[in-house]
Amino acid sequence: MPLCRRCNAVVDAKQREFCVNCIATKFFKNETWIGFLISDTSVLLDPPVHRLLIDLFKEGSELSCTDAINWQNIHDNWDKPF
Ligand SMILES: [Zn+2]
Repeated sequence: MPLCRRCNAVVDAKQREFCVNCIATKFFKNETWIGFLISDTSVLLDPPVHRLLIDLFKEGSELSCTDAINWQNIHDNWDKPF
């Protein structure tokens, strides 16, 4: 199984270099205002926040496998560079 270049999670063949969590993180940080709003990353573990972010991700990303997002992974790796 291939591993994500950024966080070493198992990568789905369709996702190639990065896992869905890192793809979502990159999207939130680069394509939305979320990255600027989040000063305390603990909000990334908050279910109401997940619903908001999943809606944004579904609208703005070509990936549709949002059920597979691991919020603990996103939280733990938020500040890791790409
Ligand atoms: Zn990853």
